[in-house]
Amino acid sequence: MKTLLSDFHILPDADGHFGPFGGRYVGETLMPALIALEEAFDREWKNPDFLHEFKSILADYAGRPTALYRADRLSALVGGAGIWLKREDLAHTGAHKINNTVGQVLLAHCMGKKRVIAETGAGQHGVATATVAARFGMECAVFMGCEDIRRQAPNVERMRLLGAEIISVKSGTGTLKDAMNEALRHWTACVEDTFYVIGSVAGPHPYPLMVREFQKIIGEEARKQLLDKTGGLPDLLVAAVGGGSNAMGLFYPFIDTGVELIGVEAAGEGLETGLHAACLSRGSVGVLHGSKSYVLQTNDGQIREAHSVSAGLDYPGIGPEHALFKECGRVSYVGATDREALAAFKLLTLTEGIMPALESSHALVTAIQEARKRPENQNIIVCLSGRGDKDMANATGYRDFDKIDPFTIFGLSS
Ligand SMILES: *Cc1c(COP(=O)(O)O)cnc(C)c1O
Repeated sequence: MKTLLSDFHILPDADGHFGPFGGRYVGETLMPALIALEEAFDREWKNPDFLHEFKSILADYAGRPTALYRADRLSALVGGAGIWLKREDLAHTGAHKINNTVGQVLLAHCMGKKRVIAETGAGQHGVATATVAARFGMECAVFMGCEDIRRQAPNVERMRLLGAEIISVKSGTGTLKDAMNEALRHWTACVEDTFYVIGSVAGPHPYPLMVREFQKIIGEEARKQLLDKTGGLPDLLVAAVGGGSNAMGLFYPFIDTGVELIGVEAAGEGLETGLHAACLSRGSVGVLHGSKSYVLQTNDGQIREAHSVSAGLDYPGIGPEHALFKECGRVSYVGATDREALAAFKLLTLTEGIMPALESSHALVTAIQEARKRPENQNIIVCLSGRGDKDMANATGYRDFDKIDPFTIFGLSS
């Protein structure tokens, strides 16, 4: 029998479970720190002074509210439903990640911590954390796999200029999952004065809850903005899922409505090739980063490397609340390949003069495919989670980039 989302009244429960997922799979030494964090978050998230400061930093420093833009030329070209873009690319540092880092670093500040640490893969979360740490005059150390340090040189330089120390992680494959393990291990040794800033709705309780709460401003704004412009709710929301925070941020304020929700995972070279990051479509239940969810793993439980042209979706896990939404059927999860994402990247840039992040381009693929199937009176909101300048070299350097033709890939007439 299928579980219904309404069977779970308050999510997560007291131990951080979203149905069978989530929880706190960490060593004993970290439990007191997680409990202290949970208490501080519970207290501050009800404190009008904290809420006021959070909102005003988001407004004056991060540039919120971000625009909701109807992509008229893209919609006309595609035909069918109207495509609206929630412009997180316009937020400070160029993506939605700033909403969460403002929340967590402000909380760290309120807890009297002097230092923040973070893990990063592509460097986007590291940059967002280093940015807000600079804003608060806090020390910042970022754990990064040695392989990623080599691949993401511009972001490493940005973090250094922001005053962050980069800690190179050489264990394993020298990528994100190794940086996460190392950051958790390091935190155990310095919980007294250090706050660990996690970059998505992942990790042990209370992180998935806390990050959702900091990111839900995306959906709250979008809901109000579309109501002002059309007088109604959208018909469909689409967002890319890496760890799942921009998707959760957009979806959560609509969870109790009839609005359709689709999360788009990176299908990389294709789901059947094994070279992808599609935890929900192709992974299995396991424990990663202190929480139970769908993960990419080998038969004997070793975490597998994820693969995607988009560095931000290249994560072998997914937030536990998404795992529950999948099981309940409240959200559908589909995949978009590297080539499809690159086609959407080209098409939005050409038709609207907006260059999307490659992560966001995955959401656009599904939005374009869905718009074509739907009548003109329907409205689709896509989370344009970030700007694409950071991806230019990666995109244009992709094999046969010039031959990727959006009109052919999406079946459009030019
Ligand atoms: C990091 C990132 C993502 C993926 O992370 P989520 O937690 O799934 O949102 C998506 N888009 C952009 C622009 C990113 O930087």
